[in-house]
Amino acid sequence: MPELAYTPLDEITQLHSTLRSTFRTGKLKPIAYRKYQILQLAYLIKDNAERFEEALASDLGRPKFESRFVEINPSLTEIKTAYTGVDKWAKPEKPAFSLNFAAMRPVIYKEAKGVVLIISPFNYPMWLSVGPIAGALAAGNAVVLKPSESTPAVSSLFAELFPKYLDSDLVRVVNGAIPETTHLLDLPWDHILYTGSGRVGKIVATAAAKHLTPVSLELGGKSPVIIDPKCDLKMAAKRILWGKVVNAGQTCVAPDYVLVPREFQETFIQALKETYQSFYPADTPSSAPSAYSRIVTPQAFSRIKNLLDNTKGTIAIGGDTDASSKYIGPTVVKDVTGDDSLMSDEIFGPVLPVVPYDGTVEEAVKFVNARDHPLALYVFSQDGEFKKQVFEHTQSGAAIANEVVLHPGADGLPFGGTGPSGYGMHTGKYSFDMFTHLRSSMDSPSWIDAILGFRFPPYTDKSLAA
Ligand code: NAD
Repeated sequence: MPELAYTPLDEITQLHSTLRSTFRTGKLKPIAYRKYQILQLAYLIKDNAERFEEALASDLGRPKFESRFVEINPSLTEIKTAYTGVDKWAKPEKPAFSLNFAAMRPVIYKEAKGVVLIISPFNYPMWLSVGPIAGALAAGNAVVLKPSESTPAVSSLFAELFPKYLDSDLVRVVNGAIPETTHLLDLPWDHILYTGSGRVGKIVATAAAKHLTPVSLELGGKSPVIIDPKCDLKMAAKRILWGKVVNAGQTCVAPDYVLVPREFQETFIQALKETYQSFYPADTPSSAPSAYSRIVTPQAFSRIKNLLDNTKGTIAIGGDTDASSKYIGPTVVKDVTGDDSLMSDEIFGPVLPVVPYDGTVEEAVKFVNARDHPLALYVFSQDGEFKKQVFEHTQSGAAIANEVVLHPGADGLPFGGTGPSGYGMHTGKYSFDMFTHLRSSMDSPSWIDAILGFRFPPYTDKSLAA
């Protein structure tokens, strides 16, 4: 693993004050300069796409095709959306016409919040860094990125390339682990976007509260799948298994577990087995090292292995692991119950528990509602009533039918959680909005007092109509 150079603490204080001074000069006020920086971000990726592929392969063992599909191309799409959208997004807006206030020329200005901090996780280290930076720049903010120390190759690449492509007085990378992040969190920011676990999310929100800094938390959780036995089974099995094997299950919106009617469990498992064979016809993915990601760190490997070792369910597919290469094969466990080790926390690995339930879909809904609101809730069904029954009686960041994992990249859809899966929405225009202050403004003419002069003391006994 490459060595990651951590940013010295005194340098962090210094760069924070540099960015604050530059922000105050108004350098990012002109939209043209914002667009120039956003374009530079695109070149940073385009010119170095192969190096990013290699870095992602080094950090996560990720197949190059997968990195293009789930990270490099979506990052470029985010940049393009910000570049093409910013002129329109940044325009002042007039509120709806009001006879009482129209003469005071009310207007909403879209202003940058200031100097913002983006803390990103290891699992999609590019997309969850670059997309938010594009949104923050479009909104006119100076930005500090704190990427994950668990992906040293990608984080080093950011540190090397940012000064070459971007204005260092406005965009900086801080590398490090807990001491560096703690130091960052001691400083006053104008917004913090944190993507990662709920445990650290609480630390970030607590630190931000000391400065009354607004925070967006993009967290995780156990995203369930509910299966209607009348679904398109072949398609469901393919999409669900893919959602679990892409990035070796280290995806915040990966299907975490599947709820199936008990009498349908074996049919569903059989469909997953056929899909598994079609995905890996030669053997297991361990024999094709460039076709399947590895677990990010030895600690993460042990955590997932431990969950698997302690399950009371039955392994139906896979179950093979290798600590030396941090390999966990795609694994399906059946007959899992709500109190199983696999149901204790977000799995964040390629292990799919299948939880059978008795009775109607209402039982599945009850099971979901007895747990934290997930980041995504998936339903596989061709029946409108079935989907309605699930979506209308649950809460989640997103409610997706017959698809998995793709929705965070869907143009125009906001991405974010609710309750313990986080708060605040991003991607596309929503990232711009996250980092924008809506500044209300009016400019009231003198003649208004011919109408509103009655507001001044001395008050009379005149009453106002309600
Ligand atoms: P993590 O919380 O361990 O780390 C994320 C960031 O927090 C890193 O930059 C890390 O350096 C920093 N950090 C870690 N410990 C810290 C501490 N004590 N004080 C201050 N900073 C600290 O998360 P992770 O393991 O990188 O990512 C996995 C989690 O992220 C999963 O729960 C996943 O669901 C979630 N996630 C959510 C989204 C989303 O968009 N909602 C996207 C990706 C991942």
